[in-house]
Amino acid sequence: MIFRTPFYYNNFRCIADKCKDNCCIGWEIDIDEKTADRYKAITGNFGKRLKDNINYGDQPSFILGENERCPFLNNCNLCDIITELGENSLCQICSDHPRYYEWYGNIKEGGLGMCCEEAARIILSSPLPFSFDETVIPDESYSSCDEELYNLVFNLRERIISILNNENYPLADAFSDTLSLAAAYQECADNNLPEPENIPVMQAVAADIKEILIFLLTLETMDEKWHPMLKNAVENADDLISNQQKFFEKNPKIAEYMRNIAIYYICRYLLKGIFDGEFYSAVALAVTSTIVITFLWELKWLESGLSEDDCIEIAKNYSKEIEYSEENTDAMLNEAYENPAMAAESLTAILRNFM
Ligand code: SF4
Repeated sequence: MIFRTPFYYNNFRCIADKCKDNCCIGWEIDIDEKTADRYKAITGNFGKRLKDNINYGDQPSFILGENERCPFLNNCNLCDIITELGENSLCQICSDHPRYYEWYGNIKEGGLGMCCEEAARIILSSPLPFSFDETVIPDESYSSCDEELYNLVFNLRERIISILNNENYPLADAFSDTLSLAAAYQECADNNLPEPENIPVMQAVAADIKEILIFLLTLETMDEKWHPMLKNAVENADDLISNQQKFFEKNPKIAEYMRNIAIYYICRYLLKGIFDGEFYSAVALAVTSTIVITFLWELKWLESGLSEDDCIEIAKNYSKEIEYSEENTDAMLNEAYENPAMAAESLTAILRNFM
């Protein structure tokens, strides 16, 4: 079977105690059955500690401590399971994180989730052009997929990535053509039409980014600082829009970061659309997420200046809010069809206003 990953995939190493955030705080960590059985068999003091801190219900999980800390995260923010039993003793979720996987027939795709600080740094700072690596791995069990639809959406993804990779393609045009192409491919899949050769011209209709920010305020939140930041962006939206040009001029790396973030979302979500036939929403999610993150970068820049670390932190926080929660990710994907501000024509107008 083929294992396909972004070219930067193998660069990831957890920065452990140097991480400002920590993925072992603030969320429930389920333990797979095989690892739970292995932990049960550990004897001695550490075996007792494992038993006392694992909830062996229908779905075994760690019993979180104060401030929702994993009970095995020590005061130096290092994992005691690794120090006591070795890295190979981690449960599936902990050893995978922040990597994600998806299977399409005999192809397995993997990537790094941007909700991790180090992964966000790698994603943002990867040099363009983006490409995939492929290796052959032993077969894993997989379910079949609709090959015709897979090929169609795969071609769309290749075209989008080549647009976003091309730094001579003006940023607003690159994003708007990406949306336009996705809408055309979706129409083609829905109506059994031939694959579009040219990129249709997208007509912009008046739209307001505030509508997207207000929608984000309705989603469940992970961090108490998230909603105040979004509210601040809504209140200052006009100011942010009028300063946009200056923001891009003073922060020349932003354009490359934006392309990298959009490519990240396209890689992670677009092909998944073949499972229910709805893939335009993944492109709307990619463009909307990139716009919102950029807006929040600008807010930080206007308030107190913007460093590379700030860009990484804001992108990571956005990803955590939207991608740590399956409900939030699904709500964003649904919103692409429900919220007029996330229609291709509206996002095009927001982009034209924006860059
Ligand atoms: S968020 Fe990423 S870098 Fe930080 S502790 Fe978790 S895996 Fe390591």
